[in-house]
Amino acid sequence: MSRIIPQSYRLVETRLQEPLENGTVRCHLCPWRCRVGHGQRGFCQAHVNRHGTLYNLSWGIISSMELAPIEEKPIRAYRPGSRVLSVGSYGCSFRCNGCHNLEISWGAAALDALARGESTSAWVTPEQLVAVALRHGAQGIAFTYSEPAIWLEYVLDVAPLARAAGLYTVYVSNSFVTPEALALVAPVIDVLCSDIKSMQEAFYRALCPTAEVAGILEAIATAQRLGMHVETRTNLIPGQNDSDAEIAAIARWIHDHLGAESPWHLTRFFPAYRLAHLPATPLETLQRAEAIAYAEGLTQVYLYADKGCDCATENLPIAQWLEADPATVHQVKRCSASCCGSEGVVLRRYEGPAGDTGH
Ligand code: SF4
Ligand code: SF4
Repeated sequence: MSRIIPQSYRLVETRLQEPLENGTVRCHLCPWRCRVGHGQRGFCQAHVNRHGTLYNLSWGIISSMELAPIEEKPIRAYRPGSRVLSVGSYGCSFRCNGCHNLEISWGAAALDALARGESTSAWVTPEQLVAVALRHGAQGIAFTYSEPAIWLEYVLDVAPLARAAGLYTVYVSNSFVTPEALALVAPVIDVLCSDIKSMQEAFYRALCPTAEVAGILEAIATAQRLGMHVETRTNLIPGQNDSDAEIAAIARWIHDHLGAESPWHLTRFFPAYRLAHLPATPLETLQRAEAIAYAEGLTQVYLYADKGCDCATENLPIAQWLEADPATVHQVKRCSASCCGSEGVVLRRYEGPAGDTGH
């Protein structure tokens, strides 16, 4: 059965949800597997339970848009020289202490505004997004800036339209994803650019208490087995994940599970947020890591002296990309579905504490 694609802002049913007792629902989009009661939102704050059904608040909500070479994602061995339209929404399954992207990646204020029915964020249909990409001469669309697993409903609605229009798709992710979600993604997305942040359990646990190194690595290897083009990146942080042993362990894993020719992107950490006290990564660290990676047998290692992440910086306003009236693009977003009566969904009624994960 084909899905009905909304033509105005509304809540969209979460794809992988499991009804539990008394109207609670478990979300299986990412390994948080949040258990969410009526009125509550999951850890990411982008999914809300209304009377026993879980909904994505951020379907179609775009925080940033940018056109750039695919090499900036960074991806090197897929369609080099092509240009990709990058888009992101709000929400992440992790809370990295050095994240540069908090307003977008965590997006707490933006998601709160959506939950209260007060958001003025841009809303873009999949058809509009594909049209923007084509109009600007892009050859692909990248889902980045926020974690796409949190926004999977939209990603899965855009991807087939993009493919039908001759565009490839890129998914820039932390790979904290369930096997069920990956099984939905892999057939419709062409490229995965995934972080491997560390080989230490403690490193991942500090970002997310339910994350495990083995689970992240398994998701990356599975994506490649399922036919996605996979490239990995590591942001080297002084004193946190930059020892010779750890660099060698990541390189060895890539070599053994993705192949000697699988590109590995090494980016520089720049002080931010709770890691503002740390220095920027010395360039010698990048060079040391490169030498270790080659010694472990990798053949494609790329260094980025000026880049920490695929962050949204100084992008054009969304209305300009859409060639639309800014007042229309940024009108207040209230759910247009009629199921909650004449007011539409007055989401403030459903505002509950975020992050009740049931763990
Ligand atoms: S964090 Fe969000 S996407 Fe992940 S399981 Fe919880 S509600 Fe679902
Ligand atoms: S660095 Fe990436 S994975 Fe970590 S919180 Fe920011 S957006 Fe999420």
